[in-house]
Amino acid sequence: MVDEGRGCSDGSGVDCEEAVRQLYVYLDGELTEQRREKISLHLDECGPCAGAADFEAELRVIISKRCKDRVPDTLIQRVAAAIAQERARQQDGS
Ligand SMILES: [Zn+2]
Repeated sequence: MVDEGRGCSDGSGVDCEEAVRQLYVYLDGELTEQRREKISLHLDECGPCAGAADFEAELRVIISKRCKDRVPDTLIQRVAAAIAQERARQQDGS
């Protein structure tokens, strides 16, 4: 299967539509080496797609950091305050 003659032609054999579609798989590292090479070649040549890839990659880093990091203190404090409030309300009620 050869993708040629569609979208921008940069010699990678991958057009923008294809590159963007593969971007998620690419960032997940689930592409074959050959496929990765083609996508990264396209990203080298194509500004808009590279920008999209950067954005996606950055977003993923942020998300993965957020998930790995411990819950932020501000959130803990908010939850603690809510629990304390709830407890106080229950003690008042009964
Ligand atoms: Zn492109």
